[in-house]
Amino acid sequence: MAGWPVIGHEWAVDLLQRAIGGGRLSHAYLLIGPSQVGKHTLAQALAQTLLCAEAAPDGSHAGPDRPCGVCRACRLVAQRRHPDLQTITAERNNIQIDQVRALQSEAALSPVEGRYRVFIVREIERATAPAANALLKTLEEAPPRVVMLLTSVRRDQVLPTILSRCQPIALRPLPEEQVRAALVARWGAPPERAALLARLSCGRLGWAVSAHLDPALWEERTHRLDELVTLGGQGHLARLAYSEALSRQSEAVDRTLGLWATWWRDLMLVQNGVTQAVVNLDHRDQLVQQAGLYLPGQVRAALVDVLETRRRIHANVNLRLALDVLALRLPRPGSSPAAGRAGAV
Ligand SMILES: [Zn+2]
Repeated sequence: MAGWPVIGHEWAVDLLQRAIGGGRLSHAYLLIGPSQVGKHTLAQALAQTLLCAEAAPDGSHAGPDRPCGVCRACRLVAQRRHPDLQTITAERNNIQIDQVRALQSEAALSPVEGRYRVFIVREIERATAPAANALLKTLEEAPPRVVMLLTSVRRDQVLPTILSRCQPIALRPLPEEQVRAALVARWGAPPERAALLARLSCGRLGWAVSAHLDPALWEERTHRLDELVTLGGQGHLARLAYSEALSRQSEAVDRTLGLWATWWRDLMLVQNGVTQAVVNLDHRDQLVQQAGLYLPGQVRAALVDVLETRRRIHANVNLRLALDVLALRLPRPGSSPAAGRAGAV
């Protein structure tokens, strides 16, 4: 008795189970949702269900006890070593044409061990134009027994032609309580830490789990928040040096901007007296202190700037330039009459 190794997203699991059970499985799904919300976990679970060797003789795998989680196929899927499951992720920041060509030649072959060949293509919005066009061909003429599972952070960044050939499944952030409970029950997080991580995760269980399991990620967060607070008090040269350094760590940029967005949003909440809703619970005192140093308009503008920069970076604008502009535009603390100038120096 195993079932889908997915926490939350019950309706999506239900929908996919029914599709399999009713023989109505689509040849392509597009899982859409914020990063680390569980798109890839859901795709893996579907792959495991399709490839589980303990399937019913009629080929249906829809029972609540599938995937079994223990057969060789299930274990290989969990270890990401099953020969009929392939995952394509962006290389050099993009999904390249040669990756799609490799996928196409694999897709033309019969399954090696299972009933299907499953391809997970993560962050489809990162496909170059030739790669997207090639993939479109596969989606249009998918060989039988091929199931394509694409994921994307945003629906509006997926080519309409690709979107129209997939069944979309939009995943929402999980309720905070569900993330908290899962962290305690399944990952053994101490209650206080679980509560903080659940709040910070904004419903993205994957993020909460990685932050719990990886102390480096946690330290990075503290470090990045400190940097943001310091940066506000610095001049142009220091700001540009910072954005240059950040742009060289391209894998950390989105995480950093996401964190910065929570920070400015928290400052806005504190300024409006809604402190119970802040996300960075462990920095409450600092938030209250910082909130007094900015005008409400500055905080709002900074939040908009961070979100807009993040959006533009997703849309492949020049990373360095976008970060330079953002760094230069960050407001200086100390301009709020309420705080007085003393706090700024
Ligand atoms: Zn199995």
